[in-house]
Amino acid sequence: MTAFDYIVIGGGSAGVATARRARAHGARVALVESGALGGTCVNLGCVPKKIAWNAAELAERLEDLADYGILLSGDHRFDYSVLREASRAHVARLNAVFAEHLVREGVHLFTGRATFSERGTVLVGGVELAAPAIAIATGARPSIPPLPGSELGMTSDDWFGLASLPRRLLVVGGGYIGVEFSGIARAFGCEVTFAFRREAPLVRFDRSIREVLCEELERMGIRLERRWTAAALERGADGLLVARGDDGRDLSGFDAVLWATGRSANVEALGLERVGVLTDAAGFVVTDEYQNTNVPGIYAIGDVTGRIQLTPVAIAAGRKLADRLFGGQPEARIDYENVPTVVFSHPPIGCVGLDEDGARAVYGDAVRVYTTRFTNLYHAVTRRKPRTAMKLVVVGPEERVVGVHAIGLGADELLQGFAVALRMGATKADLDRTIAIHPTAAEELVTLR
Ligand SMILES: Cc1cc2nc3c(=O)[nH]c(=O)nc-3n(C[C@H](O)[C@H](O)[C@H](O)COP(=O)(O)OP(=O)(O)OC[C@H]3O[C@@H](n4cnc5c(N)ncnc54)[C@H](O)[C@@H]3O)c2cc1C
Repeated sequence: MTAFDYIVIGGGSAGVATARRARAHGARVALVESGALGGTCVNLGCVPKKIAWNAAELAERLEDLADYGILLSGDHRFDYSVLREASRAHVARLNAVFAEHLVREGVHLFTGRATFSERGTVLVGGVELAAPAIAIATGARPSIPPLPGSELGMTSDDWFGLASLPRRLLVVGGGYIGVEFSGIARAFGCEVTFAFRREAPLVRFDRSIREVLCEELERMGIRLERRWTAAALERGADGLLVARGDDGRDLSGFDAVLWATGRSANVEALGLERVGVLTDAAGFVVTDEYQNTNVPGIYAIGDVTGRIQLTPVAIAAGRKLADRLFGGQPEARIDYENVPTVVFSHPPIGCVGLDEDGARAVYGDAVRVYTTRFTNLYHAVTRRKPRTAMKLVVVGPEERVVGVHAIGLGADELLQGFAVALRMGATKADLDRTIAIHPTAAEELVTLR
């Protein structure tokens, strides 16, 4: 048996962050990873997704070139294999960089699937590891709905391994992954149908953003199937896929179906029952605000806890836990409030804080909203006219900003600074006092009337 101060199970965003921070505090750390270092974000999430989104943005903007007087001669075509290989090469570089950092800093790496023993130690590939502190950072994976024929569909994990793009694609599920993959596939030229259970996707986002998002998805040529719930998936006589709706509405004629219907915790292989760690009804590890599980000395961080499933959240939770356990900061914990978030749609969405309905539920009539809709100057000369919409949600006589919401060109990049302002307690008057940067989209948020 090999003894450490800290064992981290899972080498994704949360696991790598907590291992490195604990090591920086002087702890002897073991990190166990069963797959590729970097986890979902690096291998099957943020990184390859953002590269694909960048390519999709370029594909969309090709249409604008002529409007700007840039006349390309000859044909152009999209070679998906070039993008896929470039993306893979970048991911491989990141895998190597992760390993290099961990080894250089003195984190002991173990490759294999970790499982708890009855004694509370961790077993990996015939080796037994022991430590007074163990962090479960095993993340989550796409869930496929348990419906007849659902195995005929694929998930976002499968998407990144595709040899070629499907011609006719059905995306099921109105979360951010469904929105993002619908847009990327459409921009690459696929015929896309996007089906979701509600009137509009992104149920936790502000109403105004969801409305504009639907307009923009349709502008791209994506067919929206609202209030649709899958009941079964079948292969039709023509070889194409047919998705049966639970209300009798069938969607047919697809080469591929992408399930974007949520994510499940990676806990099955861990043997949690042997140490008594509790999970909730959906299978996520139950933690308190300090990432403690119900078992002393066992902690959980990142997607496996079912909290906000974003990389910076996983990283922050991992670092705070290491600060608390090894850095002499007994109160260190992540604040899950006011986490900014971006959806890489076309155009992108950026939001932080409460949406209008959420704010009214908390603050009632003390809420006031400022809104604007416009066409970005970039599109003044293009035939394509995607919209920009922004909303500021403020409360009380001092008009403290509790929500910032934007959809439009640049919304992804402009949000971070406004998230700082919101966290610092900015008021509408603070924004008004800030001199605008002209001509930008961001200036609209400091000139709202
Ligand atoms: C398509 C997609 C796009 C996304 N885009 C974004 C984005 O743009 N921005 C953003 O912030 N977030 C994004 N996310 C979310 C982000 O990827 C996750 O929130 C983040 O990766 C969570 O980190 P984690 O460390 O908790 O889990 P993971 O990154 O999933 O890491 C868990 C690791 O544990 C390993 N593991 C599991 N079980 C065991 C075991 N028994 N033994 C050893 N190792 C094990 C796994 O192999 C994995 O490497 C996206 C996710 C997806 C799927």
